[in-house]
Amino acid sequence: PASVGGDSVSGRVRVAVRLRPRNAEELVADADFADCVELQPELKRLKIRKNNWDSDTYEFDELLTEFASQKRVYEVVAKPVVESVLDGYNGTVMAYGQTGTGKTFTLGRLGDEDTSARGIMVRSMEDILANLSLETDSVLVSYLQLYMETIQDLLNPSNDNIPIVEDPKTGDVSLPGATIVEIRDQQSFIELLRLGEAHRIAANTKLNTESSRSHAILMVHVKRSILEREDDVSIDNGKASPLVNTLKPPMLRKGKLIVVDLAGSERIHKSGSEGHMLEEAKSINLSLSALGKCINALAENSAHVPVRDSKLTRLLRDSFGGTARTSLIVTIGPSPRHRAETASTILFGQRAM
Ligand code: ADP
Ligand code: MG
Repeated sequence: PASVGGDSVSGRVRVAVRLRPRNAEELVADADFADCVELQPELKRLKIRKNNWDSDTYEFDELLTEFASQKRVYEVVAKPVVESVLDGYNGTVMAYGQTGTGKTFTLGRLGDEDTSARGIMVRSMEDILANLSLETDSVLVSYLQLYMETIQDLLNPSNDNIPIVEDPKTGDVSLPGATIVEIRDQQSFIELLRLGEAHRIAANTKLNTESSRSHAILMVHVKRSILEREDDVSIDNGKASPLVNTLKPPMLRKGKLIVVDLAGSERIHKSGSEGHMLEEAKSINLSLSALGKCINALAENSAHVPVRDSKLTRLLRDSFGGTARTSLIVTIGPSPRHRAETASTILFGQRAM
């Protein structure tokens, strides 16, 4: 795929892989076994064991080992997307991986006690707020859950079936009826995420499901008025010239950042599931495979990105391809017992490159 200086010039998707450290259980249960993967960050390479003597090697844009800090993960995965949103483009950051590998840790941690623990959502907002002037600019946020092809408002539980409307001319996506909250400071954003999470738990209890079976979607609309100075404004013998004469009319820049904590990618064994569980499994497979097809199309620079196949991809339509930037973080665990799931997760990420 076309790329200049590592910069996204087309539909190119940046893909990073993050390895979770062994948890307490794995430290004991897998004590006699090596991790199923080996990361070589300086070579941007990952090896996954096939058996005792053989492994497959893949290349990615970034490899984030179990020692990578939240700050580094933000800088590598999300910061370039946030910067382009501030410039008036749309952008998406998504986490894909098996349940328990660190998607929510990476994206959603609030870090109220320990700010170094903050995840991508909170850090993105911090970066956005630091680059705006709240007199002329605005940040508006919606927080949604997509479950079984239904969009629910995490900021107002009574909104439980939000439609997706696409402007036929511009292709812009809107969600009529979804709560939109203006954010003016970091603390109120953290409170909003906390409220959304509480509503998510309540909704999922009512639906008799788990958070890992739905996608959590944060939308951040950034509107900025850019006052551009004329080129020839320079120091006029120390005399300040009247500002009004040196400014062009304000330019409006509108960008949208979407952060998606995807449903767990583990294969649900269809044979063992029936009824509700089977419907859930089918729905997750549908949306993740539709997403996979879209990011493959972007990676291949294909003129046709098949966004219509699922609500997830329809929702992302105006944040995919064109001038939009997409960053995918693939999360994996080290356990040799999950080697097969880990291999299929890595393949999903590889096809996006
Ligand atoms: P997922 O959202 O993919 O299901 P979580 O983010 O909930 O996974 O992570 C599962 C568990 O692993 C949590 O207890 C989390 O705190 C821990 N964890 C995940 N990633 C890391 C990491 N990079 N470092 C330390 N702990 C982690
Ligand atoms: Mg999670």
